Amino acid sequence: MFIELTDHLRCPEPHEEAFLVLLPDRFDGRSVREGTLGCPVCDRRFALRDGVFDAGGARAAVEPTRLAPDAIAALAGVNGPGGYAVLVGAPAAAWREVSALMPGVGLVGVNPPEGVADEETFSVIRAAGIPLKSRSMRAVVLGAPFGGDEVWVREAARVLLPGLRVVGEGEEAAPELVDLMAGADGVWVGTPRR
Ligand SMILES: [Zn+2]
Repeated sequence: MFIELTDHLRCPEPHEEAFLVLLPDRFDGRSVREGTLGCPVCDRRFALRDGVFDAGGARAAVEPTRLAPDAIAALAGVNGPGGYAVLVGAPAAAWREVSALMPGVGLVGVNPPEGVADEETFSVIRAAGIPLKSRSMRAVVLGAPFGGDEVWVREAARVLLPGLRVVGEGEEAAPELVDLMAGADGVWVGTPRR
């Protein structure tokens, strides 16, 4: 877990949005490897192990993904360095290639395939949603089955900065949720409605 990303972590419980307090036990450079995250609202605690924030209730990705790294970079439409993009499910396995196409943009993997490890330059979260601050991310890519699931599309819409894009693999998002820009071959892209 990249230390600066910990400021953007949020409690997954359905109370008002709340930051998590980090009590780090071990660092490796700018990566927190072991520690505890605590919610000041509900007092829930989460262990950070091997750099991974496991908020519970993670759902498995469908592999392989139809979203190739160059398509992810093109569809996500992130121009210029800074901030973070979120890769949910199988697309997160290609984070090194995506990172090379989006220099200077931090990458966060939510529910990546088994074996995809948290590293200093790639932060891993396992959860039933996207436990990140609202309106803080520059792009969200939802691999299958997440891209066809309204719960995940709503989560993507919540964490995205206004006007930025969500890319989904699966059934096209409902028009009341997302203004679709394009959709073909089981992949869609659009901007969330506010
Ligand atoms: Zn809480």
